[in-house]
Amino acid sequence: MMRWAGSMSRDTSGTVKHSPLSAAMAHTIVKLTVKDVRFPTSLEQHGSDAMHTDPDYSVAYVVLDTDCGLRGFGFTFTLGKGTEIVVCAVEALSALVVGKCLQEIVSDFRAFYRLLTSDDQMRWLGPEKGVIQLATAAVLNAVWDLWARAEGKPLWKLLVDMDPEQIVSCIDFRYITDVLTEKEALDILMKAQAGKQQREDEMLKKGYPAYTTSCAWLGYTDQQLKQLCTDALKSGWTKFKMKVGADLEDDIRRCRLIREMIGPNNTLMIDANQRWDVAEAISRVSRLAEFKPLWIEEPTSPDDVLGHATISKALAPLGIGVATGEQCQNRVMFKQLLQASALQFVQIDSCRLGSVNENLAVLLMAHKFQVPVCPHAGGVGLCELVQHLILFDYVCVSASLDNRMCEYVDHLHEHFTSPVVIQDAHYMPPKDPGYSCEMLDSSVQRHEYPEGEEWKLLMK
Ligand SMILES: [Mg+2]
Repeated sequence: MMRWAGSMSRDTSGTVKHSPLSAAMAHTIVKLTVKDVRFPTSLEQHGSDAMHTDPDYSVAYVVLDTDCGLRGFGFTFTLGKGTEIVVCAVEALSALVVGKCLQEIVSDFRAFYRLLTSDDQMRWLGPEKGVIQLATAAVLNAVWDLWARAEGKPLWKLLVDMDPEQIVSCIDFRYITDVLTEKEALDILMKAQAGKQQREDEMLKKGYPAYTTSCAWLGYTDQQLKQLCTDALKSGWTKFKMKVGADLEDDIRRCRLIREMIGPNNTLMIDANQRWDVAEAISRVSRLAEFKPLWIEEPTSPDDVLGHATISKALAPLGIGVATGEQCQNRVMFKQLLQASALQFVQIDSCRLGSVNENLAVLLMAHKFQVPVCPHAGGVGLCELVQHLILFDYVCVSASLDNRMCEYVDHLHEHFTSPVVIQDAHYMPPKDPGYSCEMLDSSVQRHEYPEGEEWKLLMK
């Protein structure tokens, strides 16, 4: 059983009094609701890249109701069409969650993670990949949100305050013990206890460094790129990512334009969103080497571990690393990418992997291999969520900011009850209890697909 600091107290007569928070821990999840919520971002080409030319940023949005009135919110991210399939998968998992008490779940979170991911019939749909894993992420994100709210803390702080044994008890080590045992994970966390408070204070004061992807979606005109770069520079951004991978001449022109705009000392990253075959990736990126990108992101299929290794090896002499992870389906794939030296930047995603539980495993493996974690964000709500994970990584795992930054995209934050706070190109640690997953009721209603007002208007 876990210990809950502050969840109970004694009055002057010595009688144990449970606080409302611990009462919340004892309460039961009585209902799971899931909604298909879509934003028509394709109208203005926000999010457009070499493979996803017209995305409508969307979520399968989960609400957990408990019998004490406390609610948990969670979601997974999609690009529009097909969200109804994820909704269906969440509904299929619902029976495994409803009726459970929060304390019962989190006191053996590893077992609960495995209950969702290893149901003997449903695991055939994955296991731990594709739509069923997206659904697992949505459900578990809501459970983590509920837990953090029950404790009255933002999720990052809930994690930071857990002792190493508690953290490790949330992770399913199945299939990764050949590179990371429970004991090794514990050792990493114990070692990082030194200086933890100092790092937490530093984050609260300065925030976590971020880079922007908002300036250079593939569908934007050169004029738009220029204007957005000018604005971003004025706001203090020093690290920029741009989309590449369609036409080579366009890539060269756009890279030159952005490098000229940001100057030689700021950081540039390029992202091909899986557009190329392996040899093509090497030749295309070599042609862009003169613009000094720090990394090429998703050069090829996210499943091609050895392909990424070949690309990494070929680009190393040019000083260009390989980054990937936003469509890396589970911890096993990350394990192989790390084992094969196939990536130089690990891009965790809060809605692709099996929620916080599986992300913890990846953070610890990345630390073991000494590969920096630079989370994927953007979409709708991904910035809100992943900031919690990277704050935990810095305070309790990596203890380093070298070559590390978290993606930021300036879209759709206005739909959240606790939107991200960016100051001087840094993520400021969230203060509200929970995992920052809750959306405004009005936004959910308006954007529910297809019957929300926004979609009714568009379909007229
Ligand atoms: Mg990307």
